[in-house]
Amino acid sequence: MSKVLVITGASRGIGAATAILAAQHGYAVCVNYRSKAAPAYLVADEIARNGGRALVVQADVANEEEVVRMFGVVDREFGKITALVNNAGILEHQMRVEAMSADRIARVFATNVTGSILCAREAIQRMSTKRGGTGGAIVNVSSMAARLGSPNEYVDYAASKGAIDTFTVGLAKEVAGEGIRVNAVRPGLIDTEMHASGGEPGRIERLKSSVPMQRGGEAEEVAKAILWLLSDEASYTTGTFIDVSGGR
Ligand code: NAD
Repeated sequence: MSKVLVITGASRGIGAATAILAAQHGYAVCVNYRSKAAPAYLVADEIARNGGRALVVQADVANEEEVVRMFGVVDREFGKITALVNNAGILEHQMRVEAMSADRIARVFATNVTGSILCAREAIQRMSTKRGGTGGAIVNVSSMAARLGSPNEYVDYAASKGAIDTFTVGLAKEVAGEGIRVNAVRPGLIDTEMHASGGEPGRIERLKSSVPMQRGGEAEEVAKAILWLLSDEASYTTGTFIDVSGGR
């Protein structure tokens, strides 16, 4: 059976690493991006150079119409999807809660929470054995922030990832009888551009001494955990989490 995977926010960081690794494991991969096409095409080119199949599709995961269109494109180009990685996520600049605007909080929740739920909805409509699908697996990219709370930095982001943890548990139970497994990874400090977009380029360096393994993680190290959760090796694993955090 062909394996078809949609990865949101796959043009860089953890999403890009997961797309490349998944293609090596035989998945046809939809490389989703929100606004900058060029880096997404670089990921697709690398997959193609290694003999894999990739499809680049633009969609803002917070935009329902664009999400529906993306899954339609995947249906047409690759056939029914069998896996989804809800990876797209945003972090706004560090600040205490007193300074946070409603717009900022809404932006964070729209991408991190609404976007993940919308993509899961589209995936489940296609994967559910009760709807003629052949089952599948979903991995949500949560964060250690869901457990640590990110005080004085981004409690809004941490709360959005807490919502993802709850969503993972609830959805896993909801679709367990339909051939679909739902799990999450909780990355710790991973060396990606997200930290610069959160307003602090040197954040990994500053915080690495708080990590028991004394270093930041690489996107590829998270990708490996995601691939395991997607795979048949994890056939009896659902509604759970892998912390990829160097022991943090
Ligand atoms: P990143 O900023 O490099 O990647 C995030 C990707 O998501 C980007 O390509 C971005 O364009 C995309 N994206 C953002 N909003 C989107 C939207 N509305 N629609 C579609 N795509 C959108 O950061 P990353 O570290 O690779 O982050 C990937 C995931 O890992 C995120 O969910 C993030 O919260 C989570 N995470 C990262 C870390 C870390 O330390 N880097 C730690 C914990 C969790």
